Amino acid sequence: MTGKMRETRKQAESTCPACKHPVSTEIKRHKTLGVFVPLWGPGPCHNPDCAAYEPARRRPKARA
Ligand SMILES: [Zn+2]
Repeated sequence: MTGKMRETRKQAESTCPACKHPVSTEIKRHKTLGVFVPLWGPGPCHNPDCAAYEPARRRPKARA
């Protein structure tokens, strides 16, 4: 075993806006002027110390 970190080649990595922890990039659709445009943004943060920490993936239910 090598003590090296795994190198993952992804598209530009994002960082959590709250804790600057590296997070995966997620694509979200944003509707603008009747057209859906893909928006890349930071995914859920997996840093337990972070205020924006998301322990598990879950889909948002219908908003009230
Ligand atoms: Zn975070």
